[in-house]
Amino acid sequence: MCCSDSKKCICALGHSIRESKCSSDDAPPFVGPSHSCSRGERCAGGSACVRGVCACEADHRAEEGYCRPIEAPNADVTLAGGNGLRFKSKIATQRPRSTPCDPSRCKLPDCFCTPSGRLPPSGLLPSQTPQFVILTFDDAVNGRTLPDYKRLFGTNRFKYATFPPRNWHNRLSTLHRNPNGCPIKGTFFVSHEWTNYDGVQWIEDGGHELASNSITHVSLEGSSTSRWLSEMDGQRRIMAKFGNSREEAITGMRAPQLAAGGDHMFEMMLRAGFIYDNSIPANGGKGSEPFWPQTMDYRPSFPCNDRPCPTRSYPGVWEIPLNQFYGRFLPQIGAHQRSSMMRAAVPLNASVDELYQMLRHNLARSLDSNRAPLVLTLNADYLQLNEENSGMQALERFLESISHEPNVFVVTLKQLVDWMREPLPIERSREHPALRCPLGFARYSAGKEQCAKPNKCIYRTPGMGSPEHQFLTCSPCPDSYPWVTNPTGNP
Ligand SMILES: [Zn+2]
Repeated sequence: MCCSDSKKCICALGHSIRESKCSSDDAPPFVGPSHSCSRGERCAGGSACVRGVCACEADHRAEEGYCRPIEAPNADVTLAGGNGLRFKSKIATQRPRSTPCDPSRCKLPDCFCTPSGRLPPSGLLPSQTPQFVILTFDDAVNGRTLPDYKRLFGTNRFKYATFPPRNWHNRLSTLHRNPNGCPIKGTFFVSHEWTNYDGVQWIEDGGHELASNSITHVSLEGSSTSRWLSEMDGQRRIMAKFGNSREEAITGMRAPQLAAGGDHMFEMMLRAGFIYDNSIPANGGKGSEPFWPQTMDYRPSFPCNDRPCPTRSYPGVWEIPLNQFYGRFLPQIGAHQRSSMMRAAVPLNASVDELYQMLRHNLARSLDSNRAPLVLTLNADYLQLNEENSGMQALERFLESISHEPNVFVVTLKQLVDWMREPLPIERSREHPALRCPLGFARYSAGKEQCAKPNKCIYRTPGMGSPEHQFLTCSPCPDSYPWVTNPTGNP
């Protein structure tokens, strides 16, 4: 049938395009904001059905087919049709060169550094400082990775006291909790290609943190500020539109392939409203303490070993360094295998017990010294190590072991930054607003309640490496495959 508004052929209500034909849906269709929901259509793009129309919240407006924040952190960014994202204004003057940390001028909550890079904020003694552990996950969210995420964080995560269970009451919840009783949360750096957005929606609904890992997932080494913008802010918009996520809540990024982009990357972050980066490796040496995060007002206190290194000052942008993970001791070189990505620091044949000991050993490096946050860089290759889920088993054992430690909190990177902006000693941290159980995920619940039957969106993509691309989403399928030049999938 013909849609009079867009003068295009569309499928009748209750039908969607499958293999170029309109076929009937069992479930009512997803529609974007401003569309009618009077016949049971499911509101998408962050909207909810209000008096028969899919409506955005008061501080949001319908734009590009989803609800965008009116006061967006990336308000200076515009979609240049077919050319990806661009800044509306030019950079007026070059930013000043960064200088070594000056603690007398760098004050919280907006600025933080120490000359050594190794001290907790606000002069807290390590013994007064909570030990933060952050579970970060990298790459596409799909059938390869989502089952692991559900196993770790699923709310129906029960272990039976006896098996088979004698009665229903024998089940014990094994959901891991922090010392203040809140369930632990993770940070997910999502890249676009091969990601299913019903999975992204599941992550957001669970109160976890979504962050950007680019659209293409190829190294952006040597890329311009515009390219960084199209990749990182573009992925934020894709997650908001197709994962029904809150665009303004996506404030972190990790460079694809951990190839950080120096000044071009930080310039983009500052202007597009990214609050932190988590890409730069740091290695203080085995015998010394790991590094704390800092803001980029001042030159990083940890050595930059991978070019390009940032040379200018970026006020208020946090760098959370990746302290290298120490793996197996190699007697032939008299040192530990180590890497920013955990997978690269552990041998393929490592046993669950050995992997668990490595996790404890890396935690002890922080917990018994300066309490620098322990960022675990998890990906499918680590969790599914040796095709036996060895990494996953070790991680679960590790989480179980730290759940008995009164000073260890498992938080998201965003929570870590919020705590660092206003740090409190341990005994008061249990009530810290940043560490309270997240409530925000219930925000769009009216529009999100059912994502059981997502749309499968299929596209011919000649010249893209794979001739066909597809993804699942609980939003309407866009006209074209979302990509760097066209993140919202406009016709
Ligand atoms: Zn990645």
